[in-house]
Amino acid sequence: MFHEFGHALHSMFSEVEYPSLGGNIPRDFVEFPSQFNEHWRDDPNVFARYARHYKTGAPMPPDLVARLRNAATFNQGYALTEYLAAAELDMRWHILPADAPLQAPDAFEKSRSR
Ligand SMILES: [Zn+2]
Repeated sequence: MFHEFGHALHSMFSEVEYPSLGGNIPRDFVEFPSQFNEHWRDDPNVFARYARHYKTGAPMPPDLVARLRNAATFNQGYALTEYLAAAELDMRWHILPADAPLQAPDAFEKSRSR
């Protein structure tokens, strides 16, 4: 919700001749307003206003809040390693000479892994 509302705010505050969804925004900026707006999700004052039981309106118990915050970094080490391995493999594909024979992807990955 916070992410998409960031996109909505971006569109609402844009002044362009011909409005469109997404517009003609450079790719390295298009996610900035939404990702910036996401940070409000974790602000304790904002969190306390929306993270409530749907029937009773009771705030989320502190131990559950702590578990939720701890889960945010779960598996990030693996995700980073997976990302780096894919980037390294991609770089190896791109340094093959233009006249290199076609490669079988699985065999290429295995032959180049250290
Ligand atoms: Zn987005």
